[in-house]
Amino acid sequence: MDKKKMYINGEWVESSTGHTRDIMNPYNQEIIATVSEGDQHDAQQAITAARQAFDQGDWPLLSMVKRGEVVDRIAELIERDKEELAYLESLNTGKTMEESRGDMGEIAAVFRYYAELTNAETDGEAIDSPIPDSTSKIVRGPVGVCGQITPWNYPLLQASWKLAPALAAGNTIVMKPSETTPLTTMKVFELMEESGVPAGVVNLVLGAGHSAGAELSSNHDVDLVSFTGGIASGKKIMQAASSNVKKLALELGGKNPNVIFEDADFETAVDQAMNAVFFHAGQICSAGTRLIVQESIHDSFVRALVEHVKNIRLGSGFNESTQMGPLISKEHLTKVMNYVEKGKQEGATVAVGGSRPDTPELQNGFFYLPTVLTNCTTDMSVVQEEGFGPVITVETFTTEEEAMRLSNDSVYGLSGGVFTNDIEKAERCAAKMRMGTVWINDVNLYFPQAPWGGYKQSGIGRELGKMGLEEYQETKHIYRNMNPKSLNWFKQPFKD
Ligand code: NAD
Repeated sequence: MDKKKMYINGEWVESSTGHTRDIMNPYNQEIIATVSEGDQHDAQQAITAARQAFDQGDWPLLSMVKRGEVVDRIAELIERDKEELAYLESLNTGKTMEESRGDMGEIAAVFRYYAELTNAETDGEAIDSPIPDSTSKIVRGPVGVCGQITPWNYPLLQASWKLAPALAAGNTIVMKPSETTPLTTMKVFELMEESGVPAGVVNLVLGAGHSAGAELSSNHDVDLVSFTGGIASGKKIMQAASSNVKKLALELGGKNPNVIFEDADFETAVDQAMNAVFFHAGQICSAGTRLIVQESIHDSFVRALVEHVKNIRLGSGFNESTQMGPLISKEHLTKVMNYVEKGKQEGATVAVGGSRPDTPELQNGFFYLPTVLTNCTTDMSVVQEEGFGPVITVETFTTEEEAMRLSNDSVYGLSGGVFTNDIEKAERCAAKMRMGTVWINDVNLYFPQAPWGGYKQSGIGRELGKMGLEEYQETKHIYRNMNPKSLNWFKQPFKD
């Protein structure tokens, strides 16, 4: 792979300015690649290519089944190269190889799922027409040119949730991955080229959000913008997209509650409370960062949690014994440190962690210790704001009603967990929790068949599942009159 270039209209090209950006390994700050740094102009070139491929090319006109064959071939190639892809993902994000290997399996599964969905293609869905001698049907077609903007935490996973359904539906695409972590997305564009996706159908622009990314949300030749990232960027994109009323899909942040009732299986709940937040050093939109524990088990739960958290092994993602890698960048490490400091000032107690590790071999990486903050209340910034680091806050409740009030006290509504052995209580809570996904006695589970997205300020729309395909489709009603006749409405003379 030529790591330096962008992919526009079927060609690997340098940025128009010739500018480049160094890509860093967050474990040791080594430069692992130098890539082209695109800007608005490059994004415009890519949009023009995608527009032409949509308006004049065959891709949108192919049957879904034919497009599904290409999407399936992409899955095959990802499976073939999954070890290389996992290696690149760990090198660029710092996450463990085990996590990256898991991601690659899920990414291939997403392409397979949308390839399979294309087999369900029909000639349209007939609906009852109330008008005699007529038929009516609903058909779905592609939206057009799609701008797709992805974050750094799950670079290729987030890209797959957008690429696979958009391709299956017959759209053309301009993708802009995070400027921090473009490597696996670049590799998959190479695989899409190998799989036979026609020139202009998929285009890759690299560069910063405020230039290349902003162009995708403001350019009038783009019909839909799909964005995964932070709430502040999401709001800007929503504003820019309004200039030509683009279709909009937003997958934003989360501040996700994990409610533990006293009748839950204790060991499982402690283990899952850790899984909820410490995978990928807490840099997960659905991380269960708000632990809400029933008062009666609070002390024993926190004691057990702290004992386990002390044993989490930090290190290189390529070391098999490592359980948690570094944060993505120096700026992000500073943000997490400030976030914890503010929590302490507001009255939270550090039960474990709360600083950088002092291990000499970790000093070049952006590591932060897994941290448990107790004595937290919903008015604290650490409970309300997305820290996006390995930090969990603990609040307590006495009644089910209070647990629900606390868990819904957020501007976010992405996901939540509830642990109890009382299934009726669990179902009552799931009904009350205002989030796009609720896990009962589990955490952080998602799969291609189930829609993913947020209530409230966690976003607009859904990825994955059939809804994830429908995001990339327009719906058309076709009405056919089988017995056309003149109405003579306007030929009638006026009668007083
Ligand atoms: P970010 O908002 O800083 O950047 C995300 C992407 O948007 C990057 O490619 C960036 O270059 C681009 N961008 C930034 N400003 C832009 C603008 N004005 N116009 C167009 N593009 C712009 O987010 P991040 O720090 O990369 O990712 C972390 C955030 O992503 C967290 O808030 C996390 O919760 C969220 N996230 C959400 C989900 C989900 O499924 N809901 C999944 C993963 C991450």
